[in-house]
Amino acid sequence: MKLVTLSTGSGPSRIGAVVDDGVVDLTGIGLPADMVDLIALGEDGLSRARRAIDGATVIPQGEVRLHAPVRPPNNVMAVGRNYNDHAAEFSASGFDASEQQMIPQHPIIFTKARTSIIGPGDAIVAANDPLTSTDYEGELAVVIGPGGRRIARDRAYEHVYGYTVLNDVTARDLQKRHVQFFIGKSVDTFCPMGPALVTRDEVPDIESRWLRTTVDGELRQESPISALIFDIPTLIATLSDAITLHPGDVIATGTPKGVGIGFHPPRYLRRGNVVVVEIDGIGVLSNPVE
Ligand code: ZN
Repeated sequence: MKLVTLSTGSGPSRIGAVVDDGVVDLTGIGLPADMVDLIALGEDGLSRARRAIDGATVIPQGEVRLHAPVRPPNNVMAVGRNYNDHAAEFSASGFDASEQQMIPQHPIIFTKARTSIIGPGDAIVAANDPLTSTDYEGELAVVIGPGGRRIARDRAYEHVYGYTVLNDVTARDLQKRHVQFFIGKSVDTFCPMGPALVTRDEVPDIESRWLRTTVDGELRQESPISALIFDIPTLIATLSDAITLHPGDVIATGTPKGVGIGFHPPRYLRRGNVVVVEIDGIGVLSNPVE
């Protein structure tokens, strides 16, 4: 199922499921209005949603405004340098002079503030970056279903509710100036997500899907998800060894080669650009830059 958070007119946001000719309003038929609450219902919530879709009233696509599909209970968790080709371009950019090794031995984990989350079509406000070095990072995001602690690698997918597309927009010079990633990754509007949360059963072959990022139609990033250095089970096992994961938590899995800082000189985002991140079968996330 492709689940979305939507609103119509000036109404409150609600949960829907994408169907051929539009969206079915799941909240209107008794399911929760917040995606995290639906996720917490687990398989029961999904089967209620599936039953409800048949015969439900369909809202035409044009009448629906989509929002980020999920607002996680915690900061968005994210992974640095998780594709070999990106690790190489990042190293070559000279960004991190203290870097010990190009390919990390363990996942590099940081977080993005929840307040940076925006939806599909919403503007990335580059003017919020005081040092004008706004960069894009197209990524696959994993949405956690059943929470847990010390999740084993071979049980990890049981804790995946689904997937969405995420743009880990980054203020590079802020990231560098303040050493830790948090501020440069958390600028307001710097976490576009969506358009849909695609449930795990729809994409059993997630690692064979491809990710592409374009800026104004020019291809910048293209990679299979299988090129991840640390795969999805490893990320879930590593995080949950230390942190209890909760339903609705989001893990951005890292970006492949082709980010703006990898060019000489860097090609950062400018007002008027449109950034599109696409993952086969998951969705197309398009955001203008203001
Ligand atoms: Zn990233």
